[in-house]
Amino acid sequence: MPTALLIEDDAESRKRIARLFTRQGWDTIEAEGGAAGIELAFAHRPSVIVCDLLLPKISGLQVCRAIREKLDSPKIIIVAGRIYDIDRKVVLEAGGDGYFVKPLKWEKLAAVIRRVRRPQRKLTPRQSRTFKFHPPSTRIKFWGVRGSIPVPGPATIGYGGNTTCVEVRTNGNIIVLDAGSGIRELGLALDQEFKAAPINLTLLLTHTHWDHIQGLPFFLPAYQAKNTIRVLGYEGARAGLATILEAQMEVPFFPVSWKDLPGTIKIQELKKMEFSIGKVRVHSKLLNHPGVCVGYRLFTREGSIAFLPDNEPFEPLKLKLAERDGTHPHRARAQAAVQRSKLVEFLKDTDVLILDAQYTDEKYQEHIGWGHGALSRVVSLALEARAKKLFLFHHDPAHDDHKIDEMLERARLLVLESGRKLEVEAAREGAEIWLSGRAAAR
Ligand SMILES: [Zn+2]
Ligand SMILES: [Zn+2]
Repeated sequence: MPTALLIEDDAESRKRIARLFTRQGWDTIEAEGGAAGIELAFAHRPSVIVCDLLLPKISGLQVCRAIREKLDSPKIIIVAGRIYDIDRKVVLEAGGDGYFVKPLKWEKLAAVIRRVRRPQRKLTPRQSRTFKFHPPSTRIKFWGVRGSIPVPGPATIGYGGNTTCVEVRTNGNIIVLDAGSGIRELGLALDQEFKAAPINLTLLLTHTHWDHIQGLPFFLPAYQAKNTIRVLGYEGARAGLATILEAQMEVPFFPVSWKDLPGTIKIQELKKMEFSIGKVRVHSKLLNHPGVCVGYRLFTREGSIAFLPDNEPFEPLKLKLAERDGTHPHRARAQAAVQRSKLVEFLKDTDVLILDAQYTDEKYQEHIGWGHGALSRVVSLALEARAKKLFLFHHDPAHDDHKIDEMLERARLLVLESGRKLEVEAAREGAEIWLSGRAAAR
């Protein structure tokens, strides 16, 4: 007799699903929670698993992934109280075979059970790095997605180990956002593409923390006399921008000095918070991060891109400081709310939002005041700003691919629970996003 495993916290719904199976002569086993469900799956190897999407402790997607990692044969069907197209995709990506709204009908179940299961093709690192291709217009490409320090190795091969660097090609401009270790590969690619032709690009720096400038001494175009590089940024925390950029190439640290670089490099310290690069309008905003650190919003013909690689939510920090200084928490909350609404305004309706999501909510509690994002607050900020697509960015060096997958799933669940619309991805080295005019008009 075939066996079905039902993982569902709602007893009524569990009973209803069990009845569907027993009427057809199936055996059923049941679990109220995800962890118990996973254990039963491994112990009994059922032919079909029906699992609720929103279980109290771990999500149906996590259950699905955990089971799929070890068992290829059972059909896994996820059920939910409501249905969104985006979740169907997520369920299939997690190794699920079907996604249905409750109450479940036997005909639908039977169709999935009859279908021959094709084991999911594992993506090779190269394939997993490419995104869906849209006709070229404005292109964003991730060259480094990590925070703090590069972490190459087998555990980070999926999302990549290089520190912050994003390339934007738009309206005939090459704009590079930050110069972490990812900029080295960008330099090699530009060299291949341009060969003897001169390269003219603008490097926009958010701040001078090392993970955002450390790749610059290894940026090949700076070593070629034919090229012109304009470096724009705000004053560093202690000294001017030029002093700081030159300092990391001084003799005890590096053999070639900044002044000896053959390319034409113009450093321009920005004073205004609005300026233009060619036809691209740029707005900047000071962020909640130690020292001087800004976020940029680029307005291209095809839509806008907001880049905030390092940013901490206001409220927890303000509350912590209020506790230390004996200020009333009400006041701290009010101050934080003002700051946050300014940030929401800055990000309003952006098409692409690349945002610091370094910590899980739990880990953030131990790192309040370190200047980085906490997952659920990152999602709520993106929702409030009505961003269209959110990229979790500045991944923690301690987070391997699996952990980032988990955080992405959690973020998507939070969006689902909000009942609102927002596409969420975790930024991946090598991934490209194309903005078409249609995206902007949406
Ligand atoms: Zn950083
Ligand atoms: Zn920083």
